[in-house]
Amino acid sequence: MPGQQQDFHVETHPLNDIKRTIAVLSGKGGVGKSMITALLATYLQRTGKYRVGILDADVTGPSIPKLFGAENFKPKGSDEGLFPVRTHSNIQLMSINLLLDDPTAPVIWRGPILGNTVKQFWSDVIWGDLDFLLLDMPPGTGDVPLTVFQSLPLDGIVIVTSPQDLVSLIVQKAIHMAQMMQIPIIGLVENMSHVVCPHCGKEIAVFGNGKSAAVAQEAGIPYLGSLPIDPDLARLCDAGQIERIHKNYLDDCLAALEQVPVHGQPTAPAAPAAEAVKQTSGGGSSMKKIAISAEGDQVSAHFGHCEGFVEFAVEDGKATDKQFVANPGHKPGFLPNFLHDRGVQVIIAGGMGAGAVEIFQEKGIDVYTGAQGSVDEIARQYADGTLTSTGSVCHEHHNESSCGGHS
Ligand code: ADP
Repeated sequence: MPGQQQDFHVETHPLNDIKRTIAVLSGKGGVGKSMITALLATYLQRTGKYRVGILDADVTGPSIPKLFGAENFKPKGSDEGLFPVRTHSNIQLMSINLLLDDPTAPVIWRGPILGNTVKQFWSDVIWGDLDFLLLDMPPGTGDVPLTVFQSLPLDGIVIVTSPQDLVSLIVQKAIHMAQMMQIPIIGLVENMSHVVCPHCGKEIAVFGNGKSAAVAQEAGIPYLGSLPIDPDLARLCDAGQIERIHKNYLDDCLAALEQVPVHGQPTAPAAPAAEAVKQTSGGGSSMKKIAISAEGDQVSAHFGHCEGFVEFAVEDGKATDKQFVANPGHKPGFLPNFLHDRGVQVIIAGGMGAGAVEIFQEKGIDVYTGAQGSVDEIARQYADGTLTSTGSVCHEHHNESSCGGHS
Protein backbone atom coordinates (compact mmCIF):
# COMPACT_ATOMS: atom_id res chain seq x y z
CA MET A 1 0.00 0.00 0.00
CA PRO A 2 1.33 3.45 -0.77
CA GLY A 3 2.89 5.18 2.19
CA GLN A 4 3.14 1.94 4.15
CA GLN A 5 6.40 0.19 4.83
CA GLN A 6 6.54 -3.07 2.92
CA ASP A 7 6.72 -6.22 5.00
CA PHE A 8 9.00 -8.76 3.33
CA HIS A 9 8.70 -11.31 6.09
CA VAL A 10 8.00 -14.87 5.04
CA GLU A 11 6.12 -17.20 7.39
CA THR A 12 7.83 -20.38 8.37
CA HIS A 13 6.11 -23.74 7.78
CA PRO A 14 3.10 -24.21 10.11
CA LEU A 15 4.69 -27.34 11.57
CA ASN A 16 7.79 -25.42 12.65
CA ASP A 17 8.48 -23.98 16.06
CA ILE A 18 11.91 -22.39 15.82
CA LYS A 19 13.02 -20.77 19.02
CA ARG A 20 16.13 -18.92 17.85
CA THR A 21 17.29 -18.17 14.31
CA ILE A 22 20.89 -17.05 14.18
CA ALA A 23 22.75 -15.85 11.08
CA VAL A 24 26.48 -16.41 10.69
CA LEU A 25 27.92 -13.72 8.47
CA SER A 26 31.26 -12.82 6.93
CA GLY A 27 32.55 -10.09 4.67
CA LYS A 28 33.93 -12.43 2.04
CA GLY A 29 34.24 -16.14 1.24
CA GLY A 30 36.91 -18.40 2.64
CA VAL A 31 37.22 -16.94 6.14
CA GLY A 32 35.71 -20.07 7.67
CA LYS A 33 32.10 -18.95 8.10
CA SER A 34 30.63 -22.34 7.15
CA MET A 35 33.14 -24.17 9.28
CA ILE A 36 32.26 -22.00 12.28
CA THR A 37 28.54 -22.46 11.66
CA ALA A 38 29.11 -26.22 11.62
CA LEU A 39 31.26 -26.11 14.77
CA LEU A 40 28.70 -24.04 16.67
CA ALA A 41 25.93 -26.45 15.67
CA THR A 42 28.09 -29.38 16.76
CA TYR A 43 28.86 -27.87 20.17
CA LEU A 44 25.21 -26.87 20.74
CA GLN A 45 24.05 -30.37 19.82
CA ARG A 46 26.70 -31.90 22.05
CA THR A 47 25.30 -30.18 25.16
CA GLY A 48 22.33 -32.54 24.83
CA LYS A 49 20.03 -29.62 25.66
CA TYR A 50 19.03 -28.41 22.25
CA ARG A 51 17.52 -29.43 18.94
CA VAL A 52 19.71 -27.85 16.31
CA GLY A 53 19.40 -27.23 12.59
CA ILE A 54 21.51 -25.56 9.90
CA LEU A 55 19.93 -23.78 6.96
CA ASP A 56 22.62 -23.45 4.31
CA ALA A 57 21.80 -20.03 2.89
CA ASP A 58 25.18 -19.85 1.15
CA VAL A 59 23.39 -20.95 -2.00
CA THR A 60 26.17 -20.38 -4.51
CA GLY A 61 28.89 -21.97 -2.39
CA PRO A 62 27.05 -24.53 -0.28
CA SER A 63 29.63 -26.37 1.80
CA ILE A 64 27.66 -27.39 4.90
CA PRO A 65 26.71 -30.95 3.81
CA LYS A 66 30.33 -31.74 2.98
CA LEU A 67 31.56 -30.68 6.41
CA PHE A 68 29.22 -33.28 7.92
CA GLY A 69 29.89 -36.00 5.33
CA ALA A 70 26.23 -35.65 4.30
CA GLU A 71 26.59 -34.72 0.60
CA ASN A 72 24.84 -37.88 -0.49
CA PHE A 73 22.01 -37.74 2.02
CA LYS A 74 18.66 -37.22 0.31
CA PRO A 75 15.95 -35.09 1.92
CA LYS A 76 12.54 -36.77 1.97
CA GLY A 77 9.46 -34.94 0.81
CA SER A 78 5.76 -35.25 1.55
CA ASP A 79 2.64 -33.33 0.49
CA GLU A 80 3.25 -31.11 3.50
CA GLY A 81 6.80 -30.12 2.64
CA LEU A 82 10.41 -31.18 2.63
CA PHE A 83 12.23 -32.78 5.56
CA PRO A 84 15.83 -31.83 6.34
CA VAL A 85 18.43 -34.60 6.50
CA ARG A 86 20.00 -35.51 9.83
CA THR A 87 23.73 -35.67 10.43
CA HIS A 88 25.49 -38.39 12.41
CA SER A 89 24.90 -36.49 15.66
CA ASN A 90 21.32 -35.62 14.68
CA ILE A 91 21.74 -32.03 13.54
CA GLN A 92 19.13 -31.19 10.89
CA LEU A 93 20.44 -29.84 7.59
CA MET A 94 18.99 -28.32 4.48
CA SER A 95 21.13 -27.18 1.60
CA ILE A 96 20.71 -26.69 -2.14
CA ASN A 97 23.53 -29.22 -2.46
CA LEU A 98 21.25 -31.93 -1.12
CA LEU A 99 18.67 -31.21 -3.81
CA LEU A 100 20.90 -31.10 -6.87
CA ASP A 101 21.45 -34.24 -8.90
CA ASP A 102 25.08 -33.31 -9.25
CA PRO A 103 26.29 -31.58 -6.06
CA THR A 104 29.48 -30.48 -7.83
CA ALA A 105 27.54 -28.54 -10.51
CA PRO A 106 27.94 -24.79 -10.03
CA VAL A 107 24.83 -22.88 -9.01
CA ILE A 108 24.55 -20.10 -11.56
CA TRP A 109 21.12 -18.73 -10.75
CA ARG A 110 20.57 -15.04 -10.41
CA GLY A 111 19.98 -13.10 -7.19
CA PRO A 112 16.16 -13.25 -6.96
CA ILE A 113 16.08 -17.03 -7.42
CA LEU A 114 18.85 -17.47 -4.88
CA GLY A 115 16.94 -15.33 -2.40
CA ASN A 116 13.78 -17.32 -3.06
CA THR A 117 15.56 -20.60 -2.45
CA VAL A 118 16.58 -19.44 1.00
CA LYS A 119 13.03 -18.25 1.70
CA GLN A 120 11.71 -21.66 0.68
CA PHE A 121 14.13 -23.36 3.06
CA TRP A 122 12.35 -21.33 5.72
CA SER A 123 8.75 -21.69 4.50
CA ASP A 124 8.61 -25.14 2.89
CA VAL A 125 11.02 -27.17 4.99
CA ILE A 126 9.60 -29.02 7.96
CA TRP A 127 12.17 -28.36 10.67
CA GLY A 128 9.70 -29.14 13.45
CA ASP A 129 10.71 -28.00 16.93
CA LEU A 130 14.17 -26.45 16.98
CA ASP A 131 15.97 -24.59 19.75
CA PHE A 132 18.54 -23.18 17.33
CA LEU A 133 18.45 -22.76 13.58
CA LEU A 134 21.83 -21.51 12.37
CA LEU A 135 21.98 -19.85 8.97
CA ASP A 136 25.19 -20.13 7.03
CA MET A 137 24.81 -16.84 5.17
CA PRO A 138 26.11 -16.05 1.70
CA PRO A 139 29.35 -14.10 2.08
CA GLY A 140 29.26 -10.33 1.98
CA THR A 141 26.51 -7.83 2.47
CA GLY A 142 25.01 -7.92 -1.03
CA ASP A 143 21.56 -8.77 -2.40
CA VAL A 144 21.11 -12.33 -1.21
CA PRO A 145 22.12 -11.69 2.40
CA LEU A 146 19.90 -8.61 2.37
CA THR A 147 16.91 -10.68 1.16
CA VAL A 148 17.57 -13.16 3.94
CA PHE A 149 17.78 -10.39 6.51
CA GLN A 150 14.50 -8.95 5.29
CA SER A 151 12.61 -12.21 4.94
CA LEU A 152 13.49 -14.24 8.00
CA PRO A 153 12.88 -13.19 11.60
CA LEU A 154 16.49 -13.37 12.76
CA ASP A 155 17.22 -13.28 16.48
CA GLY A 156 20.90 -12.51 16.22
CA ILE A 157 24.00 -12.32 14.07
CA VAL A 158 27.47 -13.75 14.60
CA ILE A 159 30.14 -12.06 12.49
CA VAL A 160 33.15 -14.11 11.41
CA THR A 161 36.33 -12.37 10.34
CA SER A 162 39.93 -13.32 9.72
CA PRO A 163 42.88 -11.14 10.61
CA GLN A 164 43.73 -10.42 6.96
CA ASP A 165 40.19 -9.09 6.43
CA LEU A 166 39.17 -5.46 6.22
CA VAL A 167 37.54 -6.11 9.56
CA SER A 168 36.38 -2.64 10.42
CA LEU A 169 34.62 -2.23 7.06
CA ILE A 170 32.81 -5.57 7.41
CA VAL A 171 31.79 -4.78 10.95
CA GLN A 172 30.46 -1.37 9.93
CA LYS A 173 28.41 -2.89 7.09
CA ALA A 174 27.08 -5.67 9.28
CA ILE A 175 26.16 -3.23 12.02
CA HIS A 176 24.41 -1.02 9.52
CA MET A 177 22.40 -3.94 8.12
CA ALA A 178 21.57 -5.21 11.58
CA GLN A 179 20.41 -1.76 12.68
CA MET A 180 18.21 -1.40 9.62
CA MET A 181 16.54 -4.71 10.39
CA GLN A 182 16.68 -4.28 14.17
CA ILE A 183 18.56 -7.52 14.71
CA PRO A 184 20.98 -7.80 17.64
CA ILE A 185 24.63 -8.55 16.90
CA ILE A 186 25.69 -11.37 19.19
CA GLY A 187 29.36 -10.72 18.58
CA LEU A 188 32.47 -11.18 16.51
CA VAL A 189 34.66 -14.27 16.15
CA GLU A 190 38.08 -14.14 14.56
CA ASN A 191 39.12 -17.23 12.62
CA MET A 192 42.68 -18.21 11.67
CA SER A 193 44.02 -15.70 14.17
CA HIS A 194 47.23 -17.62 14.82
CA VAL A 195 49.02 -20.93 14.38
CA VAL A 196 50.36 -23.06 17.18
CA CYS A 197 53.89 -24.32 16.59
CA PRO A 198 53.71 -28.13 16.61
CA HIS A 199 57.19 -28.32 18.15
CA CYS A 200 57.16 -25.81 20.99
CA GLY A 201 53.43 -24.99 21.34
CA LYS A 202 54.08 -21.28 20.91
CA GLU A 203 51.31 -19.21 19.31
CA ILE A 204 52.40 -17.34 16.21
CA ALA A 205 50.14 -14.47 15.11
CA VAL A 206 50.94 -14.61 11.40
CA PHE A 207 48.86 -11.54 10.53
CA GLY A 208 49.46 -9.54 13.69
CA ASN A 209 47.63 -9.46 16.96
CA GLY A 210 44.20 -8.47 18.19
CA LYS A 211 42.86 -6.39 15.29
CA SER A 212 39.35 -7.89 15.41
CA ALA A 213 39.13 -7.55 19.18
CA ALA A 214 40.01 -3.87 18.91
CA VAL A 215 37.48 -3.27 16.12
CA ALA A 216 34.76 -5.06 18.10
CA GLN A 217 35.50 -2.97 21.14
CA GLU A 218 35.45 0.22 19.15
CA ALA A 219 32.14 -0.71 17.53
CA GLY A 220 30.65 -1.63 20.89
CA ILE A 221 29.92 -5.25 19.99
CA PRO A 222 31.07 -8.28 22.01
CA TYR A 223 34.31 -9.97 20.96
CA LEU A 224 33.70 -13.71 21.26
CA GLY A 225 37.20 -15.09 20.84
CA SER A 226 39.34 -16.59 18.13
CA LEU A 227 40.29 -19.85 16.49
CA PRO A 228 43.77 -20.81 15.37
CA ILE A 229 44.61 -22.28 11.98
CA ASP A 230 44.39 -25.87 13.08
CA PRO A 231 45.46 -28.71 10.76
CA ASP A 232 43.23 -31.12 12.73
CA LEU A 233 40.26 -28.92 11.99
CA ALA A 234 41.15 -28.74 8.28
CA ARG A 235 41.48 -32.53 8.19
CA LEU A 236 38.09 -33.04 9.87
CA CYS A 237 36.48 -30.56 7.44
CA ASP A 238 37.98 -32.38 4.46
CA ALA A 239 36.91 -35.77 5.76
CA GLY A 240 33.34 -34.63 6.47
CA GLN A 241 33.85 -35.35 10.15
CA ILE A 242 33.51 -32.00 11.84
CA GLU A 243 31.32 -33.59 14.50
CA ARG A 244 34.40 -35.45 15.72
CA ILE A 245 36.11 -32.26 16.89
CA HIS A 246 37.48 -32.89 20.36
CA LYS A 247 38.79 -29.39 21.08
CA ASN A 248 36.59 -26.86 22.81
CA TYR A 249 36.85 -23.84 20.60
CA LEU A 250 34.26 -21.05 20.64
CA ASP A 251 33.21 -21.41 24.30
CA ASP A 252 32.42 -17.70 24.61
CA CYS A 253 30.41 -17.70 21.41
CA LEU A 254 28.48 -20.74 22.56
CA ALA A 255 27.70 -19.09 25.88
CA ALA A 256 26.51 -15.97 24.04
CA LEU A 257 24.22 -18.06 21.82
CA GLU A 258 22.71 -19.70 24.86
CA GLN A 259 21.85 -16.24 26.19
CA VAL A 260 19.82 -15.31 23.10
CA PRO A 261 16.20 -15.09 24.23
CA VAL A 262 13.64 -17.39 22.67
CA HIS A 263 12.00 -15.72 19.67
CA GLY A 264 9.26 -13.30 20.59
CA GLN A 265 10.11 -13.37 24.27
CA PRO A 266 11.64 -10.35 25.96
CA THR A 267 15.22 -10.39 27.16
CA ALA A 268 15.40 -12.06 30.54
CA PRO A 269 15.23 -9.63 33.46
CA ALA A 270 17.97 -9.52 36.10
CA ALA A 271 16.56 -12.34 38.20
CA PRO A 272 14.66 -14.33 35.60
CA ALA A 273 14.82 -17.76 37.11
CA ALA A 274 13.24 -17.12 40.46
CA GLU A 275 10.65 -14.93 38.81
CA ALA A 276 9.74 -17.60 36.27
CA VAL A 277 9.37 -20.22 38.97
CA LYS A 278 7.16 -17.94 41.05
CA GLN A 279 4.96 -17.22 38.07
CA THR A 280 4.13 -20.87 37.62
CA SER A 281 3.77 -21.49 41.34
CA GLY A 282 0.26 -22.66 42.13
CA GLY A 283 0.50 -22.73 45.90
CA GLY A 284 1.39 -19.18 46.87
CA SER A 285 4.86 -20.21 48.04
CA SER A 286 7.89 -19.60 45.83
CA MET A 287 9.24 -23.13 46.42
CA LYS A 288 8.17 -25.82 43.98
CA LYS A 289 8.56 -29.55 44.12
CA ILE A 290 9.27 -30.97 40.70
CA ALA A 291 9.58 -34.59 39.56
CA ILE A 292 11.41 -35.77 36.45
CA SER A 293 10.68 -39.22 35.07
CA ALA A 294 14.07 -40.89 34.80
CA GLU A 295 16.01 -43.82 33.46
CA GLY A 296 19.30 -43.73 35.37
CA ASP A 297 20.53 -40.15 35.18
CA GLN A 298 18.67 -39.46 31.92
CA VAL A 299 15.12 -38.21 31.36
CA SER A 300 12.96 -41.19 30.44
CA ALA A 301 11.19 -41.08 27.08
CA HIS A 302 8.28 -43.04 28.54
CA PHE A 303 6.65 -41.54 31.59
CA GLY A 304 4.71 -44.62 32.71
CA HIS A 305 7.53 -47.09 32.20
CA CYS A 306 10.34 -45.05 33.73
CA GLU A 307 12.62 -46.49 36.36
CA GLY A 308 11.62 -43.81 38.82
CA PHE A 309 11.27 -40.10 39.51
CA VAL A 310 13.96 -37.67 40.52
CA GLU A 311 12.44 -35.01 42.72
CA PHE A 312 13.92 -31.57 43.35
CA ALA A 313 12.94 -28.56 45.39
CA VAL A 314 13.18 -25.49 43.17
CA GLU A 315 13.57 -22.10 44.74
CA ASP A 316 15.31 -18.86 43.83
CA GLY A 317 16.47 -20.26 40.50
CA LYS A 318 18.13 -23.33 42.05
CA ALA A 319 17.16 -27.00 42.07
CA THR A 320 18.19 -28.69 45.34
CA ASP A 321 17.21 -31.60 47.62
CA LYS A 322 17.57 -34.16 44.86
CA GLN A 323 15.83 -37.40 45.71
CA PHE A 324 15.10 -40.58 43.75
CA VAL A 325 11.77 -42.35 44.13
CA ALA A 326 11.29 -45.70 42.44
CA ASN A 327 8.32 -46.11 40.09
CA PRO A 328 5.69 -47.94 42.17
CA GLY A 329 4.00 -49.39 39.06
CA HIS A 330 2.04 -48.06 36.16
CA LYS A 331 -1.61 -48.90 36.48
CA PRO A 332 -3.70 -46.33 34.58
CA GLY A 333 -4.34 -43.25 36.65
CA PHE A 334 -2.19 -44.40 39.54
CA LEU A 335 1.04 -42.44 39.00
CA PRO A 336 -0.49 -38.95 38.84
CA ASN A 337 -2.20 -39.56 42.19
CA PHE A 338 0.97 -41.04 43.65
CA LEU A 339 3.00 -37.96 42.64
CA HIS A 340 0.26 -35.57 43.74
CA ASP A 341 0.23 -37.22 47.17
CA ARG A 342 3.98 -36.68 47.38
CA GLY A 343 3.40 -32.94 46.94
CA VAL A 344 4.79 -32.79 43.38
CA GLN A 345 3.66 -29.61 41.59
CA VAL A 346 5.48 -30.05 38.28
CA ILE A 347 6.08 -33.23 36.30
CA ILE A 348 8.67 -33.36 33.53
CA ALA A 349 8.96 -36.28 31.09
CA GLY A 350 10.05 -37.19 27.58
CA GLY A 351 6.60 -38.34 26.49
CA MET A 352 3.33 -38.99 28.25
CA GLY A 353 -0.08 -40.44 27.43
CA ALA A 354 -3.00 -38.07 26.98
CA GLY A 355 -4.85 -39.67 29.91
CA ALA A 356 -2.04 -38.96 32.35
CA VAL A 357 -1.68 -35.38 31.11
CA GLU A 358 -5.38 -34.85 31.76
CA ILE A 359 -5.22 -36.18 35.33
CA PHE A 360 -2.16 -34.07 36.14
CA GLN A 361 -3.87 -30.99 34.78
CA GLU A 362 -7.01 -31.70 36.80
CA LYS A 363 -4.83 -31.80 39.88
CA GLY A 364 -3.19 -28.50 39.02
CA ILE A 365 0.17 -30.15 38.31
CA ASP A 366 2.14 -28.52 35.47
CA VAL A 367 3.22 -30.97 32.76
CA TYR A 368 6.36 -30.52 30.68
CA THR A 369 6.85 -33.05 27.88
CA GLY A 370 9.53 -33.41 25.24
CA ALA A 371 12.40 -33.17 27.75
CA GLN A 372 15.57 -35.01 26.76
CA GLY A 373 19.05 -35.56 28.17
CA SER A 374 20.39 -35.44 31.69
CA VAL A 375 17.98 -35.13 34.61
CA ASP A 376 20.24 -32.64 36.39
CA GLU A 377 20.45 -30.44 33.33
CA ILE A 378 16.68 -30.45 32.83
CA ALA A 379 16.20 -29.55 36.51
CA ARG A 380 18.65 -26.70 36.04
CA GLN A 381 16.76 -25.50 32.97
CA TYR A 382 13.47 -25.59 34.84
CA ALA A 383 15.02 -23.64 37.71
CA ASP A 384 16.48 -21.15 35.21
CA GLY A 385 13.10 -20.66 33.62
CA THR A 386 14.46 -21.82 30.24
CA LEU A 387 12.74 -25.20 30.04
CA THR A 388 9.93 -25.31 27.51
CA SER A 389 7.40 -28.04 26.94
CA THR A 390 6.78 -29.42 23.47
CA GLY A 391 3.29 -30.28 24.72
CA SER A 392 3.52 -33.60 22.89
CA VAL A 393 1.16 -36.27 24.13
CA CYS A 394 0.70 -39.79 23.02
CA HIS A 395 -2.69 -40.03 21.37
CA GLU A 396 -2.53 -43.73 20.60
CA HIS A 397 -3.01 -44.68 24.24
CA HIS A 398 -5.44 -43.25 26.68
CA ASN A 399 -3.48 -43.93 29.77
CA GLU A 400 -0.02 -43.08 30.92
CA SER A 401 1.21 -46.62 30.86
CA SER A 402 2.56 -46.66 27.35
CA CYS A 403 3.81 -44.06 25.05
CA GLY A 404 5.53 -43.85 21.67
CA GLY A 405 8.87 -42.13 21.69
CA HIS A 406 8.22 -38.44 21.66
CA SER A 407 10.99 -36.22 20.63
P1 ADP B 1 33.56 -19.75 4.11
O1 ADP B 1 32.28 -20.37 4.52
O2 ADP B 1 33.87 -18.50 4.87
O3 ADP B 1 33.68 -19.57 2.63
P2 ADP B 1 34.70 -22.26 4.90
O4 ADP B 1 34.12 -22.41 6.26
O5 ADP B 1 34.07 -23.07 3.81
O6 ADP B 1 34.76 -20.74 4.51
O7 ADP B 1 36.26 -22.57 5.04
C1 ADP B 1 37.01 -22.99 3.95
C2 ADP B 1 37.98 -24.08 4.40
O8 ADP B 1 39.04 -23.48 5.12
C3 ADP B 1 37.38 -25.12 5.33
O9 ADP B 1 36.82 -26.19 4.64
C4 ADP B 1 38.56 -25.58 6.12
O10 ADP B 1 39.19 -26.65 5.47
C5 ADP B 1 39.49 -24.39 6.11
N1 ADP B 1 39.53 -23.69 7.40
C6 ADP B 1 38.75 -22.67 7.81
N2 ADP B 1 39.09 -22.28 9.05
C7 ADP B 1 40.10 -23.08 9.44
C8 ADP B 1 40.91 -23.17 10.63
N3 ADP B 1 40.71 -22.36 11.65
N4 ADP B 1 41.87 -24.12 10.67
C9 ADP B 1 42.07 -24.92 9.60
N5 ADP B 1 41.37 -24.88 8.48
C10 ADP B 1 40.40 -23.98 8.38
